[in-house]
Amino acid sequence: MLNKPKKIALIPGDGIGKEVIPIAFEVVKKATTLELKAQNFALGSERYLQTGELFPEAEKKALQDFDAVFLGALGDPRVKPGILERGILLTLRFEFDQYANLRPLKLYRKDLTPLKNAADIDVMFFRENTEDLYIGAGGVLKKGTADEVALQELVQTRKGVERIIRYAFEWAKSKGRQKVTLIDKCNVLTYAHDLWQRVFWEVASEYSSLEKDHLLVDAAAMKMVLAPESLDVVVTTNMFGDILTDLGAAICGGLGLAASGNINPEGLSMFEPVHGSAPDIAGKNIANPLATVLAGAMMLEHLGDNRGACKIEEAVVWVLEHKKVTPELGGMLSSTEVGEALLAYLEGKV
Ligand code: ATP
Repeated sequence: MLNKPKKIALIPGDGIGKEVIPIAFEVVKKATTLELKAQNFALGSERYLQTGELFPEAEKKALQDFDAVFLGALGDPRVKPGILERGILLTLRFEFDQYANLRPLKLYRKDLTPLKNAADIDVMFFRENTEDLYIGAGGVLKKGTADEVALQELVQTRKGVERIIRYAFEWAKSKGRQKVTLIDKCNVLTYAHDLWQRVFWEVASEYSSLEKDHLLVDAAAMKMVLAPESLDVVVTTNMFGDILTDLGAAICGGLGLAASGNINPEGLSMFEPVHGSAPDIAGKNIANPLATVLAGAMMLEHLGDNRGACKIEEAVVWVLEHKKVTPELGGMLSSTEVGEALLAYLEGKV
């Protein structure tokens, strides 16, 4: 029986997102044996500025019919911070209940890290993706006055905490990993992070083959610089995961290489680079497309094509080894030339 084509929603978005998505999607198509049917969704700043539309209901409904979303970036200096992020990106993550944000930290080439004497870094971060300070609960009183009061609430539910912890343990077990580490701030956030503590150790007791560990977020930040190789699988909150994975990207070659998946195991998942729209380099054909390419590999794995995902990773390792990279990694190639080098590798032409 023939496999059904996989429907992919492409949301290039803003800035360098519009440059890296077409390049990365060509690489994904070349690497996979799956039949992919893509449709473009014009969401982002241009549309918002022209029409005031952020994410019309009809498009949200249409997305329900897709197998995955491949997103570039959202953000534009002409739009107040938060509007595009909350109106499109967080709407996608929240309304499609993409509760597990997977962020691999992998050092592909030793000289890419700014750390001295770095050993192998291969960490998978599981960042909770639907709760915490990100839900937009709060308010402001007497705005703009000397008596202003601002409140932003940290909300965690047992269901939300348990499902991301369980997902991290299941993933670690299925991949034969050694250890799962919880990162929190339970010594200060004695309600919300006590919930994380109790649920973590409860779920952990079901996984006898895995080691378990706990780090306070401040100690974890130090450890990521001093001994990142000691981490294996990490599960953490939305806020801490956001910050620590940017630090993680920095020790593994920068934002140009950091990929992520927003997973709803029973619904629509979305794959994107960790970086944003990078307006300073947009339109110059110098953005590194590799983060988006690696996000494409995560998408293929999610769609069941492990072989295609591995081929993409091999191609990325090859361009890094041969310095066929963009200027921020010390190379001379444009974004499109990096894409061509990846395609040439996948076609066996090198
Ligand atoms: P946004 O507001 O959309 O998050 P930003 O510029 O504030 O955009 P990022 O896009 O995440 O934040 O990136 C910060 C900086 O890192 C960029 O200004 C750019 O110089 C650099 N950068 C990010 N992504 C890449 C990339 N793919 N290739 C090269 N440099 C990049």
